[in-house]
Amino acid sequence: MTDAATAPEPGTVYLVGSGPGDPELLTVKAKRLLERADVVLHDRLPGPEILEGLSAERCEDVGKRGGGERTPQPEINERLVGFAREGNSVVRLKGGDSFVFGRGGEEAEYLAAHGIPFEIVPGVTSATAAPAVAGIPVTHREHTSSISIVTGHEDPTKPESAVDWEALAAVGGTIVVLMGVRRLPDYTGALLEAGMLPETPVALVERATWPNQQVATGTLETIVDARDEVGIEPPAVTVVGEVAATRATVLEFIANETADKEV
Ligand code: SAH
Repeated sequence: MTDAATAPEPGTVYLVGSGPGDPELLTVKAKRLLERADVVLHDRLPGPEILEGLSAERCEDVGKRGGGERTPQPEINERLVGFAREGNSVVRLKGGDSFVFGRGGEEAEYLAAHGIPFEIVPGVTSATAAPAVAGIPVTHREHTSSISIVTGHEDPTKPESAVDWEALAAVGGTIVVLMGVRRLPDYTGALLEAGMLPETPVALVERATWPNQQVATGTLETIVDARDEVGIEPPAVTVVGEVAATRATVLEFIANETADKEV
C-alpha cells in the first residue's frame, strides 16, 4: 500500500481569535472548538485565565521557547500542517483576532498552499476591546468618525518605517497603536512634530480584561510620564485622540473597573 492510501484524511485547522483575555469574551464557537480540539497551539497573549482553562490533551506554547525566544513562524506553520496531516483537529489560538496583527493571514496562506482545510474564527480584537473596557469608544459622533489601527513596533525615525505618522496626524481620527509601549516616546514625538496638539488626549490600557488590568491617561505631552508612573508594560493598547478623554466622563460608573490604577 502506498502512503497516500494509509494516511488519514487531514484534520481541520481552526485559526481562532481568543479575544482580549476574559474567558467570557471567547466566542461561543471558540469555546466549543477549544473543548473538542485534539491539539491547541497557542502563545501567551490569550492571557492566564483562558490558558489555564485549556483542556485539550495536547497544548503547546509556541509563543516562547526554552531560551525565551519566539518559535519562528515557519516552524509554527509546519507544526500546524504536521498535526493536521496526522488527522488531528487543531486549534491555532491567538490573542484578540488572528487577522489583526496576528499573522493569521500568513498561516491561512500556508495551510492553503499545503492543501489543509482550515476555518477562520474571528475574535474580539484588543484594538477596540481594550479601549472599550476602559470607557473609551474608538468612534464617537462628536469627536471622530475614523480609526487607524497601527503597529508601534517600527522605529518612526527610520525612513523605511511602515507607519506614516505624519499622514496619521493629518487624518485626524482616532489612532490605536498596538505593540506600542516601548516606542511611545518615539511616536508621540512624531505626532507632535507632525502638528498634533500637545493637549491631545492619550490613554494606555494594559492587559485589558485580565485580572490585573491597568490604565494610564494623559496627553501627547504627558503620557510618557504617566506610563512610567503607573508602570505600564506590554501588552497594552495606546489610544490617541479626543475619544480618550471620554473615559474621565464615565469612569465613576464603570462597574468592571475595580482593579485599575489611574493617573
Ligand atoms: N491579534 C491581537 C493583536 C496582536 S499584536 C488582537 O487582535 O488583539 C499584540 C498587541 O496586541 C500587544 O502588544 C497589545 O498592543 C495588544 N493586546 C493584545 N491583547 C491585549 C490586552 N488584553 N490588553 C491590551 N493590549 C492587548
